[in-house]
Amino acid sequence: MIADAIDSYLRNDGKDVPDALLDVAAAHVRRSLSKNFGAKREHRVRVPSPSSKWYCARRQLFDALPMAAHREDDTPRSRVIFTLGDSVEAVGMLLARQAGVQFLTPDVGGEQLRLSSLIVPADFGYDSKEPFPIAGNIDCTISVNDHGECVADWKSMSDYGYDDAEEAARNPNAKWWTEARDDIIAQVRWYMLMLRLAGRGDGKMGYIIGVKKSTGHVCEVVIPHDEQHERELVAKAAYVWRHLRTLAMVQTGVGLDDVRAFTASLDGVNPESALAYILANVPRPKWAVSVTLPGRNARADGTFGPVEQIDTARDSKRHGSGPFVGFRCGYCPFVGACWPGFSLVALGKPVWRRAVDAPASA
Ligand code: SF4
Repeated sequence: MIADAIDSYLRNDGKDVPDALLDVAAAHVRRSLSKNFGAKREHRVRVPSPSSKWYCARRQLFDALPMAAHREDDTPRSRVIFTLGDSVEAVGMLLARQAGVQFLTPDVGGEQLRLSSLIVPADFGYDSKEPFPIAGNIDCTISVNDHGECVADWKSMSDYGYDDAEEAARNPNAKWWTEARDDIIAQVRWYMLMLRLAGRGDGKMGYIIGVKKSTGHVCEVVIPHDEQHERELVAKAAYVWRHLRTLAMVQTGVGLDDVRAFTASLDGVNPESALAYILANVPRPKWAVSVTLPGRNARADGTFGPVEQIDTARDSKRHGSGPFVGFRCGYCPFVGACWPGFSLVALGKPVWRRAVDAPASA
């Protein structure tokens, strides 16, 4: 729908771009330039948020708490890459509007839709009656016949990510559906649920619009409602919520009215106690694994010998069939805090290792 409209628009003569649309795109790019190239600030995802990392509860807690001292710095290159990604999204949204796609939000002032919902686990078949809040901004929403307001999430993608998403748009059995399930698919399904709870749409359909950074191709993946996944996401959010509440020493549930106070209470959490608590109480996901490499391997201290290494290989064959998502630890800014004793070794690509003893000879 959106991808086809953009493609058709680009193949024709086009029309003048109204100032209002130019202003929205310019505001989007300005925000990104200021965020990525201005003074460094801590960007925290406070209460459970749809844009959180649903594949790892530890990462969600690190992101929500004042853990700047344990966060690896973004590389200089990544600040440029984030900005280019935001620019690609601004271009995509402008093109979609030029092509006649009717956005419900953001409005012509560029204001995104902010949704806050109180989730009651019992409504999803769980015993827990304690509600928890979830809040976030939606890139854009569109009106779809019979479904009402639907989320359309824009993602600038690498060649690798785009090719997988494009295949998934055609093939319901593509590996992307598993690999991205607790990543961008989860984010979109949260917004689908929140639009339904807000009575703005039926929540049966959402869209991911991928823009390939290197070539400008645009693809669109329709995300169907999935009740089982929705229940899993509610369970994950309730789990993270309980830990946040324990860390902030809040005794009862928090309603939407006092989310700000709860968020402020997270600022007072001691980062060292929080780290010790998380390492002791919140296990890493099953896919976060290490491998032992015997023999002569470079170590962080300049010596060589057997090492234990976090397995971040995309093509790792060591973990059976199906997509292996251990690469996520390689991109995680909290990898040093999460894997105590491991240090970065800059080889052809960076790896995280710790020295281990050589196995005793027989
Ligand atoms: S390093 Fe891996 S397991 Fe640890 S918080 Fe980050 S993504 Fe999760």
